[in-house]
Amino acid sequence: MRKFDGDHLVIASHNAGKLREIAELLAPFGVKVSSASEHGLEEPEETEDTFVGNARIKAHFAAKATGLPALSDDSGITVDALDGAPGVYTADWAETSEGRDFAMAMEKVWTLLDQKMAPFPRTAAFNATLCLAWPDGHDEVFEGRVDGQVVWPMRGDRGFGFDPVFLPNGKTETFGEMDPAEKNAMSHRQDAFDKLVKGCFE
Ligand code: IMP
Repeated sequence: MRKFDGDHLVIASHNAGKLREIAELLAPFGVKVSSASEHGLEEPEETEDTFVGNARIKAHFAAKATGLPALSDDSGITVDALDGAPGVYTADWAETSEGRDFAMAMEKVWTLLDQKMAPFPRTAAFNATLCLAWPDGHDEVFEGRVDGQVVWPMRGDRGFGFDPVFLPNGKTETFGEMDPAEKNAMSHRQDAFDKLVKGCFE
């Protein structure tokens, strides 16, 4: 496993929620971070059908374009009764001609569950894959998840994306209601991040 021994990392994402969370997770390591948009990078097309495949596309694209190591996150929510949908297509389910509408996407998930008469609890997981890629083409990949259920109606506006409908196991607040520090401590991203730290930073 290759160690990260630089002092600057590009976060290969244009998603403000992810950028904020990843920067917070990296803060204790004294690594300077910059975002893909600060480097004027376009978003590469996510043409793979796995979290790992798309995380690798994003990290390699940013590492090659900037000449710096780059960290990407590909994530989404997998709902058991929908055979894992929306999964890698979570962001796509929110696309509209006027940008992303996650309230609409969450409603779509709940409506499909109702149509299927899916039993309760409507179990789901948030998945996150982190890829750290170097400009020479090497990479390391780490996968994380947190289990819970989809609930309705939406609750809370403290997170982003599908947070308002995700109730993690053993908790009474959705990710949307929870203190961000509490979410960060138990999230799918934190799970993958712990593995990244063990593998590349320690
Ligand atoms: P992508 O990884 O850019 O393809 O997008 C993944 C999508 O999954 C995001 O746009 C969010 O809607 C959703 N997602 C991933 N992680 C989280 C999270 O921590 N909270 C809420 N939604 C998330």
